[in-house]
Amino acid sequence: MKLKAAPFFRGVRLAGHKSRTANLPIEPLPVTGEIHIPLSRHIGAPAQAIVKTGDTVKKGQCIARAVGAVSANVHASVAGTVTSIGTCPDGRGGTIPCVTVAPNGVQETAYLSPLSDLSSEAIIERIKECGIVGMGGAGFPTHVKLRPSAPVDTLILNGAECESYLTCDDALMRARSKEIVYGAKYIAAALGAKQILIAIEKNKPEAIVAFEKSDLPVIPLKKQYPMGAEKQLIYCCTRRRVPLGKLPADVGVIVQNVATAFAVYEAVELGKPLIDRVVTVTGEGVEQPKNLLCQIGTPLSVLAEICGATENTVKLVEGGPMTGAALTGTSAVVTKTTGGFLFLSGKETAVYEPTPCINCGKCASVCPMKLLPMQTEFYTDAKEYDNAAKYGGVLACIECGACSYVCPAHRPLAQAIKTAKSELRRKA
Ligand code: SF4
Ligand code: SF4
Repeated sequence: MKLKAAPFFRGVRLAGHKSRTANLPIEPLPVTGEIHIPLSRHIGAPAQAIVKTGDTVKKGQCIARAVGAVSANVHASVAGTVTSIGTCPDGRGGTIPCVTVAPNGVQETAYLSPLSDLSSEAIIERIKECGIVGMGGAGFPTHVKLRPSAPVDTLILNGAECESYLTCDDALMRARSKEIVYGAKYIAAALGAKQILIAIEKNKPEAIVAFEKSDLPVIPLKKQYPMGAEKQLIYCCTRRRVPLGKLPADVGVIVQNVATAFAVYEAVELGKPLIDRVVTVTGEGVEQPKNLLCQIGTPLSVLAEICGATENTVKLVEGGPMTGAALTGTSAVVTKTTGGFLFLSGKETAVYEPTPCINCGKCASVCPMKLLPMQTEFYTDAKEYDNAAKYGGVLACIECGACSYVCPAHRPLAQAIKTAKSELRRKA
């Protein structure tokens, strides 16, 4: 069954750049060398390692425990020997704590038993045990999100994938729609939500058809960025507006990414922790773009080699071009939140020198949060962060980058907003 979405007038139309991987199947990436499993690429405290160098671990064995209320367990994504517990490069010039495992080629698993008790408490506990986090990019521990402060009646499955280039969710939806539906039903049961809505941008017709065969309603969405942002998605699917400073649960809604729902299915039915994910590798800098099923912790250099990365690459990005992070090299690893790596050629990137603001108002007209980005930049440049919040509305910004994208003067608006937000947080 198809339902109609409410209109979304703001935002921008991005060039899709998805055609190179949009129809490709998911290819499992063979494990060839050491895996560096991050302990901290989720929101919250890093997990604490419970193995030591020299230990033998099985695939799926818990190797690091969540610390504190907001954190996530971490599991071995391959069977093998722990060769170090330290740090690995994050690809952005810094490091992250990690456990390095040298695979032994045996691939002996330590999965849990399928879950027979399907009570809310048991499902949430299973999700927590399996280290599941939001896989759409945020990395918020799912078990925490499933204990909302207000009653929830609606679960929205986010299959919008509105960023250019990325097709990892599309590939998963085309291949595993039944499992995603099961996962959604387990999440809804955990929440006590009566309604499940599946939201997919119209540029993924095969995925829409796949879900139409299920017993859940599908909402085809206009192709518009940032359609997949939580507040925009909730309005388009339910016409409920999340007030500033409030959470989706305050209007009775929880949003989960489709890959997260698939991970929940695997945790509940197979006892499998979150140890792998689909990653899109694309851009004109690779000869063979792919949707790869990768073990968490696989070095980007392995993906680069298998996809034929060339010297045409002038910019490397983890995630989408609007919200992703520029990388300094191929030292990054696949994390639970890595949707893709973009190897962008000179033709796909442009470096602009900012010129003075011409007060055209375009940045404000596209802002999905109805903010005044030019005001934020003006006050941020003057280091008047309180005024940036008062007149620019910076605290409501969802950092989508649409304002920077349309600015004819190429002002670094989103960057200014991030600076103002971090300064305001530091002062708080
Ligand atoms: S101000 Fe924030 S929410 Fe508005 S367009 Fe810019 S980045 Fe997006
Ligand atoms: S879009 Fe750029 S030039 Fe136009 S008002 Fe905003 S900051 Fe100024």
